Amino acid sequence: MLATQLVETGNIQTVEVPVPTPGPGEILIEVEAAGICGTDRHLFRGEFPSVPGNILGHEFSGIVIDGADSGIKEGTRVTCDPNTWCGECDQCLRGRVNLCANNIATGIHRDGGFAEYCAFPAKKAVVLSNDLDPLHGAFCEPLACTLHGMDLGAVRPGERVLVIGGGVIGLLAVQLAKQAGGKIMLLTRSPDKQVMGRELGADLSAGTETEAHEIWPEGADLVVECAGVPETVAFAPRLARSGGRVVVLGVLPSGETVPIEPFDLLFREIQMHFSFINPFTHKRAAQMIEDKSISVDPLITRTISLQEAADAIATAPPPGEVRAIVVPQSMP
Ligand code: NAP
Repeated sequence: MLATQLVETGNIQTVEVPVPTPGPGEILIEVEAAGICGTDRHLFRGEFPSVPGNILGHEFSGIVIDGADSGIKEGTRVTCDPNTWCGECDQCLRGRVNLCANNIATGIHRDGGFAEYCAFPAKKAVVLSNDLDPLHGAFCEPLACTLHGMDLGAVRPGERVLVIGGGVIGLLAVQLAKQAGGKIMLLTRSPDKQVMGRELGADLSAGTETEAHEIWPEGADLVVECAGVPETVAFAPRLARSGGRVVVLGVLPSGETVPIEPFDLLFREIQMHFSFINPFTHKRAAQMIEDKSISVDPLITRTISLQEAADAIATAPPPGEVRAIVVPQSMP
């Protein structure tokens, strides 16, 4: 089969490899759709710890073709929660499963979904309807991560919510904040993404910190940072109102630091949270994708083949691109 392997940092290739044989507790999935996430590009550039030689792809769904003794019938569509925590360490026993030191992330620590087939732990597969658009299954994982961030942010009806970054995570955050009853501003540089944000529920949009400050001089109750660049992480607390909250979802490269003014955070008692992956949110995300309470069609900019995936990960997304979805069963 074809698969897109991170040979080592800075070297990604689509190559022919054997179809995997499912191990104990695993099922075999024919991958239908796998999203290229900002984190895949971080992995390629060595900004996120990786394992050389592994097949990337952690946002994927597909059809079970060998259910083994899992109870999931062949032909069932599933979405894959990529994070398998140990359930035994101190963090897991405290319920902080996303902090499990032994977490095995599919698409990072073991072979993932940028492949025709993937052997996957049955207990981490969530059943989806066979009527669902196959491309939609690839949005369960980013939605699950965004749900965790929004759970930490705990929007109350009527609150002002500023979402920074008009990529998939930001546009999902806009929709979740709207459902929670917030008044939403999206801050993103691209005018096209600002329009998309307003179509998906944002009441207001801005392109810079200054513009956002002019619109809400007293600041937002909640700022959700979804851009993942130093500049936006640094200005996120400045755009929160006194007593406000900030949730950072964006990933900065390991070792990167940003200037933060502790006096300002203290004097205005800003709560700053960091949101990491998807503790107990994947099934909820799958349900929301299934019942179409979240709109994902506008987020799909293009579909590409596995042969095109390596290049797409190794290069910056073209201007205006929100999400490229790899369809492993297609040809370039
Ligand atoms: P993405 O597609 O790169 O989207 C980020 C958006 O931020 C871009 O579309 C860009 O749009 C905007 N942006 C960049 N610089 C900006 C600036 N200076 N001011 C305002 N907006 C700016 O990434 P994504 O897939 O949505 O993911 C967002 C971040 O979340 C990434 O860092 C990713 O690694 C991270 N992430 C975290 C988790 C978690 O568990 N915490 C899970 C998944 C992803 P414009 O060109 O319009 O500015």
